Amino acid sequence: MRKSLIFFLKIGILVAAAVWLAQRPGRVTIEWLDHVAEMPVGIAAILVLLLAWIAATLGRLWRILRGGPGALGRRRNSNRREGGFRALSQGWVAVAAGDADIATKSAKAAEKLLREPSLTLPLAAHAAELRGDAPAAATYYKAMLAKPSTELAARKALLAQAMGKGDRPAALDHARRALELRPKADWPAKALAELEAGGGNWLEADAALVKAQKSKALAKEDAAPRRAALLIEEARQAVSTGRPESALQAAQAAFDLDPARVPAAALLARLLAKAGKHAKAGKVLEQTWRLSPHPDLAKAWGEVSADQNALSLVKRYEGLVALKPGAADAHFALGEAAINAKLWGVARSHLEKTRELAATQRVYRRLADVARAEKGEGPEAHGFLNQAMSAAADPRWRCTSCGTTHGDWHAVCDQCKSVDTITWPKVGR
Ligand SMILES: [Zn+2]
Repeated sequence: MRKSLIFFLKIGILVAAAVWLAQRPGRVTIEWLDHVAEMPVGIAAILVLLLAWIAATLGRLWRILRGGPGALGRRRNSNRREGGFRALSQGWVAVAAGDADIATKSAKAAEKLLREPSLTLPLAAHAAELRGDAPAAATYYKAMLAKPSTELAARKALLAQAMGKGDRPAALDHARRALELRPKADWPAKALAELEAGGGNWLEADAALVKAQKSKALAKEDAAPRRAALLIEEARQAVSTGRPESALQAAQAAFDLDPARVPAAALLARLLAKAGKHAKAGKVLEQTWRLSPHPDLAKAWGEVSADQNALSLVKRYEGLVALKPGAADAHFALGEAAINAKLWGVARSHLEKTRELAATQRVYRRLADVARAEKGEGPEAHGFLNQAMSAAADPRWRCTSCGTTHGDWHAVCDQCKSVDTITWPKVGR
């Protein structure tokens, strides 16, 4: 509409100019050197217009010739980048969908079109991992180490690869460098602690967690139980290498970090008793017993007593039962103390109570002991032994990562090398 209006306006102006010229006849004379040209005004006007048109066309052509090739190149370049980014996004979608073929093809296309390794190497590495080509993935990750923008991601992937292969020195190297690069990330600290713990370097492992906690990479409640686990092992190592002071210090630190932790309390209480601090040892056991009753605590309850007289111990275990009357382990321990003191009636009654709460093999074996002591080798003792064979097994420490059962608690599972995964199953009350 607007265009045609302008067109009619132009025609109108031309017609008006033609009419105006026609009404004013005359001639134009041009003299140039020895030449003289004479023509009517109309023709001269048309010539002027023609010259103007030719000049405008030549000017436009000149501009195209001067800026043309660059503009063309720029356009081709932007098309290539666009294609590269399209390939890149297709590749990441394929990675997310687990399509190794498309991911690999897209990675190659993106690499060719973009020529920006910091953008295309991560995709190429993921595609290689997806098709199960670990060496190729490692090559891409190693190339990523050279770029500051991709180094951390490469360290993370190479750390996982090294840990998977059991290459501890390489894994330590990647974890340490990653922690330097990003002190606020939690995974380098966790990995470093795990690796140091795996090597039995308990204090180094603890230091990694403390550092992570200080830089807020790990929350205190997340770091505390792990640190407690490591410090228990440190205390045990100090005991076995004849450093009682360090042992007591580490055990106390572990207990303070995680008072519900049975191995920490049991070890600390024994170390305190050894140092003559029997009352304090009892207090430690009492605190943890209230949080998590356990056979190891019940055992230590008797061991840390200054008075080892059999009857005194029965009295002491009566105190433990009173602390938490529903705890089967206290009744069982009292039953055993009563057997040692030859108080058969007391023993029988608390073993029966244990049977009500948690009827596992140990109860029947002790009931058989009582029956044998009271009535000799007979049908009652045999009956209990038979029941022991068909009863549920007594609970044991168990690794939540690999399922292996353990006779004692350890910070590192010797089967799967996981850190702080050995727990006590919840049974009875
Ligand atoms: Zn395990």
